[in-house]
Amino acid sequence: MENSIAFERATTLERTTFRSIREGREHTVMILGGSYAAIQIAHRLLKYARMYVQNLKVVMVWWSRILGSSMTSVSALATLQFPNPSFFEAVMRPSREAPALTRQQNTHLYWNMASVRAIIPGQTKDDDLFGNIARGFAQYATDSFVHIIGSVEGVDPNTKTVWIDYAPRHSLEVEIERGGGTGAVERHELKYDHLILCTGTRSTDPDMPWKNLGSTDETREQLHITQRKVEKAKHIVVAGGGATGVEVAAELAFEYAKASGDKRKEIVLATRGAHVLSGDSMSSKVEKELAKLGVKLMTNSTVEGKEFKDNKTYLTLRNGKTIETDLLLPTTGLIPNSEYLPERYKNSQGYVTVDEYFRVVGAPSVWAVGDIVSIPRASFVHTEKHATGVALNVENALRKKDPVRVKSMAVDPLAIALGRKRGAGRAGKVSLPSYAVYWAKGRNLGMSRMPSYLNGAPW
Ligand SMILES: Cc1cc2nc3c(=O)[nH]c(=O)nc-3n(C[C@H](O)[C@H](O)[C@H](O)COP(=O)(O)OP(=O)(O)OC[C@H]3O[C@@H](n4cnc5c(N)ncnc54)[C@H](O)[C@@H]3O)c2cc1C
Repeated sequence: MENSIAFERATTLERTTFRSIREGREHTVMILGGSYAAIQIAHRLLKYARMYVQNLKVVMVWWSRILGSSMTSVSALATLQFPNPSFFEAVMRPSREAPALTRQQNTHLYWNMASVRAIIPGQTKDDDLFGNIARGFAQYATDSFVHIIGSVEGVDPNTKTVWIDYAPRHSLEVEIERGGGTGAVERHELKYDHLILCTGTRSTDPDMPWKNLGSTDETREQLHITQRKVEKAKHIVVAGGGATGVEVAAELAFEYAKASGDKRKEIVLATRGAHVLSGDSMSSKVEKELAKLGVKLMTNSTVEGKEFKDNKTYLTLRNGKTIETDLLLPTTGLIPNSEYLPERYKNSQGYVTVDEYFRVVGAPSVWAVGDIVSIPRASFVHTEKHATGVALNVENALRKKDPVRVKSMAVDPLAIALGRKRGAGRAGKVSLPSYAVYWAKGRNLGMSRMPSYLNGAPW
């Protein structure tokens, strides 16, 4: 698998880094992913496990869109013989409206929980949504932390090997300032002692900026494109009555549904079932709040088809109706980013199966946490809680101690922001007052936590 010619092209720094990882001179913990779970675990290991484990090296690998999004680049993929070309076709499908990108590095944490508000022009600043990951790790000894902006292409738990595609960078300093490499893509084969899978999920619709799109530039660009579309539209259909759909519809309605004059827009929320939030105990309360905001709710209205004609979008619903709109914002569904892992470690939907210690079933020394396991569901609060337990278990493994059962939240909380003034929520079965949800979440959708998340202060 290893391409020695390509390897020779790497800089001295990279050669040293890759060689030491390949030769297993350190205790190498490799973390795949560059989002909430991965960042927390990396900080915890560097702060605590390194006190006990000599020569601990934490290697974080997070995604970069390795080639441009133009058609030429996508067709060039075929010649590279990726193990799973269909994955690339799915995630690298060029957006019809996005220009071809020339920079493809994924350098920043995307605070995607605020994307529901960020699609409204003027409501958020890019700097509050995107935070440079590498800078937060500059505090640790350079021999203890390595980050590789590359795409994980394969994992073999039997031989403890990870294959990544990677564009070499010039120096770590350049990487921190500018992002990853700009050279040709190379395939590298790396060895680990312990591996933690935190590669999460992506949105079903690759044009929607609800989650990281593969590179910081592309995510930011797609967000701006969506903002421009929102600004132009007079009639918007949000498809999907889950938490994201409800929050998006509420944010849009708060800003536009009751505005006067030219600013006013009609906001429709189309749901598959008879109620939003799949009939959760909060559904009817949330539906009343949406009505107050001016959202037009269309239940039993799964959007099945979309046709673009004369500057209008025509949506076909499963119930036979057609809606004419200016803009469709689909919020339906997530896909696990687990294509690099052999099928036997996943369930039928592609989520990774773990035991009570969050070890991947049947894969020694491999853990998985966050959306890629989605236990009990895809959620930041569960991810954050479980990541704490996984960091401890990896530290235990490094110190030859037994693992401990990973603790979950005592109750499953659900908090929904309903525009910029109200919210609805429950902790288990106990309902939470609107102002409490607004205060805890709706005020700034957690964005104020980003700086400390990046520099590891909470842990
Ligand atoms: C619009 C929206 C709003 C939300 N709001 C809330 C909320 O208010 N509260 C809440 O609790 N939850 C919320 N969530 C859920 C929350 O966003 C997720 O649970 C959280 O993002 C999970 O984090 P993660 O670290 O597991 O992975 P993700 O955030 O999915 O990140 C995965 C990381 O892995 C990288 N990656 C993927 N594939 C590869 C690869 N092959 N090679 C290398 N790197 C790779 C990606 O680039 C990314 O860095 C929301 C979700 C959405 C979509």
